[in-house]
Amino acid sequence: MKTDRSKNMSPRRISKQIQIGGVKIGGSAPIVVQSMANTDTRDIMSTIRQIKELQEYDCEIIRVAVPDMQAAQALKKIKKGIKIPLIADIHFDYRLALAALEAGVDGLRLNPGNIEDKDQIKKVVLAAKERAIPIRIGVNAGSLSKTQGKKSVVTRMVDAALEEVKLLESLDFDLIKVSLKAFDVPTTIAAYKTIAEKIPYPLHIGITEAGTPHTGVIRNSVGIGSLLYLGIGDTIRVSLTANPREEVIAGYEILKSLDLRQHGPILVSCPTCGRTEVDIIKIAQQVEVELQKIKKPIKVAVMGCVVNGPGEAKDADVGIACGKGRGILFRNGKKIGIVEEADFVKALMREVREITNPN
Ligand code: SF4
Repeated sequence: MKTDRSKNMSPRRISKQIQIGGVKIGGSAPIVVQSMANTDTRDIMSTIRQIKELQEYDCEIIRVAVPDMQAAQALKKIKKGIKIPLIADIHFDYRLALAALEAGVDGLRLNPGNIEDKDQIKKVVLAAKERAIPIRIGVNAGSLSKTQGKKSVVTRMVDAALEEVKLLESLDFDLIKVSLKAFDVPTTIAAYKTIAEKIPYPLHIGITEAGTPHTGVIRNSVGIGSLLYLGIGDTIRVSLTANPREEVIAGYEILKSLDLRQHGPILVSCPTCGRTEVDIIKIAQQVEVELQKIKKPIKVAVMGCVVNGPGEAKDADVGIACGKGRGILFRNGKKIGIVEEADFVKALMREVREITNPN
């Protein structure tokens, strides 16, 4: 599949590279797709099962909630049962962070809004430093400290992150990653733009509490997509009220749409119009299902008429322009055969498999 990276996107912000488990984040490493398990972490088997499913979808890092000591103690077994790096999400109680480190996690997420005691944070940082475990300073607009007066949300988010960064640096700790998430997209973008110029560390980007897949994917795509277009962001999580596999699928789609990662097929399908003579919506849906079995990158087009179809999808590796009763099969916009309507999907997929799996 052709990719063209000479687009008008801003160059990627240069950040200090860190490593979570074996996964590099920042620098020139690919932008990493991560998610968060929504099982009860204390239920070790269910959590491992869900993470294993996410591994199948190529989730690259997983975070789990650690609400209590039992959850912290479950991390050791969870870590043993999975292949991707494990991050412990810690709020309120620094002792849970210490226990998570003890359990062997690959990363910590601390919320500066709810662990404010500097001595407690110091204890966590020193324990993380001993094990060379990175810490994400995860600022959330919804849980900012109340001590910052009447400053704007953006300023309060950035200040909260900077204060925590300074504390970590004062302890000679630099395995830092930062996030500044809000539900409001312009607020999130402004916060990340500001912090991006102030610190050298990699940024985890996302929109928080973005909603259900229907609207949440759009909100995330606008926020994460805008930041990536500006060159900001080293790892992403698409927050959705859904099974986390939807987050991973959406994460890759965002990266693919900006040509930042290749990951499986891309489906190009026309919006349909008055020229459409067949049920192109159904055909595109059938092709989409078939393409889920293909792992290699390939651009596939399903077009609604033989007049404009091949031309409109000329960037596709393979496609079909569907007319009444017959369709034109094409590669790189050039006609390679005529297909009967009953065979549209079958013929297209035969070409796809031939390209992606030539042997
Ligand atoms: S490919 Fe044909 S049917 Fe589809 S939108 Fe274009 S002109 Fe209309």
